[in-house]
Amino acid sequence: MTTSRPVDLRGVLDNDLCIACGACVAADPSIELRLHPEKLMFEPSHPGNQAAADVCPAVGVDFDRLQDYLFPGAEPTAYGVVHSVMLAQSTDRDRNLKASSGGMIKELLVDLLSRDDVDGAIVLQHVDGLEFRPGLITEVAEVDRLPGSIYHNLPKDRALQLLRENQGRYVLAAIPCELEGIYNYVMKCEPHLRQRIHTTIGLLCGWQYNWHSIRAICQFKGVDPDRVVDVSYRGDGPIGKLRIWTDDGNEVSTSRRLDFGYQVAFDRTFNTPRCHLCINHANFLADIVVGDAWLASTLGTKTGVSLVINRREDSDTLVRSLADRGRVVFTEVSVNEIRESQKPSIAFGNFAYAYADYLDELGLHRPRMDGPNKPAARPVERREVATFHTELRRKIELQRARRYRLLFWRKATREFGRYVARYWDWFRHRVLRAGRDPDSTPAATRATTSIFR
Ligand SMILES: Cc1cc2nc3c(=O)[nH]c(=O)nc-3n(C[C@H](O)[C@H](O)[C@H](O)COP(=O)(O)OP(=O)(O)OC[C@H]3O[C@@H](n4cnc5c(N)ncnc54)[C@H](O)[C@@H]3O)c2cc1C
Ligand code: SF4
Ligand code: SF4
Repeated sequence: MTTSRPVDLRGVLDNDLCIACGACVAADPSIELRLHPEKLMFEPSHPGNQAAADVCPAVGVDFDRLQDYLFPGAEPTAYGVVHSVMLAQSTDRDRNLKASSGGMIKELLVDLLSRDDVDGAIVLQHVDGLEFRPGLITEVAEVDRLPGSIYHNLPKDRALQLLRENQGRYVLAAIPCELEGIYNYVMKCEPHLRQRIHTTIGLLCGWQYNWHSIRAICQFKGVDPDRVVDVSYRGDGPIGKLRIWTDDGNEVSTSRRLDFGYQVAFDRTFNTPRCHLCINHANFLADIVVGDAWLASTLGTKTGVSLVINRREDSDTLVRSLADRGRVVFTEVSVNEIRESQKPSIAFGNFAYAYADYLDELGLHRPRMDGPNKPAARPVERREVATFHTELRRKIELQRARRYRLLFWRKATREFGRYVARYWDWFRHRVLRAGRDPDSTPAATRATTSIFR
């Protein structure tokens, strides 16, 4: 293993570790992000130069330094800097129903866009078909036209480009690794851009998928992926259906939790590989983080509820003021609800830290990053990551050969036991609340969450 400073992005490209944040494009303008024809994920057109490697979050992220830079003087917990944690939901039923969780991102955007000191918001917008990319919105009316969560890998270079091109102050809504790239670049290359970022609304993020996922589900459902005009992964309830629209006006929808084809196409081996090494699912760099409140106490709600992590007093005040104006309802909960709703492996990186060590043993490139959660992590056994790695490489080969049907039959036969075990694991964690920290403060109860729809 080499720990010397990489001179370009070769290690990232050779190990499929790009997450398409776009920081390298700003640092080395000769780079373009392209959808790789076999990997079906976005990555740089070529390895670029030292400047590109220096800002790339697939090369490294210095969380200590970035947290000092963004939250000077604050003491990070295992969940990052935390001012308060809430469960919250928009009181606008339509907005809540269309949203991926409680509709909180859109409520926050509407409010922030109405302020005099905010010039716009840089947010993911639909372009065409399966293409989505960051765009600049300045009007409140544009907020409800934004998509819900888009789970396939997307090029994000336009977010930094918009920030560099426009004077003013902007709200940025972004997944964790997108903010890692943006702040790596801002801190190292153009610190004056920091002033242009008014507020960051971070999404909590468990994983994203390469485009083989959507092609596989299209094949299982008899849809031509080249005729897709739009896609929606969430909405119409806490979990929501995957819906795909084609240019002949047809809509195909499928249950994200119950459809076996969905479980095959959105298996974790379809994730962009850096997601397996991600330790920042809770978006340590965002001012306010919104995720799903996957809790036993919210199992019975008919529409989604958001888990909100306020990393600053300002964002806590913002949610309270939205509640005072009747735009949202919320209940404050303990920091432990982050772990409860996301599972310890996501919150603390139990798998990711062990996998990083394993890649070091193999002498393979991997991002250098230790988060504030590392002391709380209980890395899984070496055997588990070794088995995973072998299976991942095999399945990636099958994906790239577009042998989606073979992957379907593999899951239905030799992997079926593990598939059932995953549901049991979900049931134990979510419903029986196994693995709960016995020393933790009391969790949200059905009484405290009865304010939600
Ligand atoms: C790839 C991905 C993985 C996620 N994984 C988890 C998870 O494991 N656990 C969890 O609790 N929550 C996860 N989330 C967050 C969750 O799905 C909701 O996005 C979040 O709770 C906000 O819900 P909302 O109802 O407030 O947002 P909505 O009203 O649905 O608004 C979504 C907003 O996010 C923006 N957006 C959508 N997709 C992206 C994207 N790919 N990149 C950047 N911006 C985007 C849209 O422009 C819109 O502004 C994930 C989201 C994404 C995009
Ligand atoms: S992760 Fe970001 S900076 Fe690194 S190669 Fe990919 S787009 Fe470029
Ligand atoms: S899991 Fe981590 S690496 Fe993967 S998309 Fe989410 S933030 Fe990025």
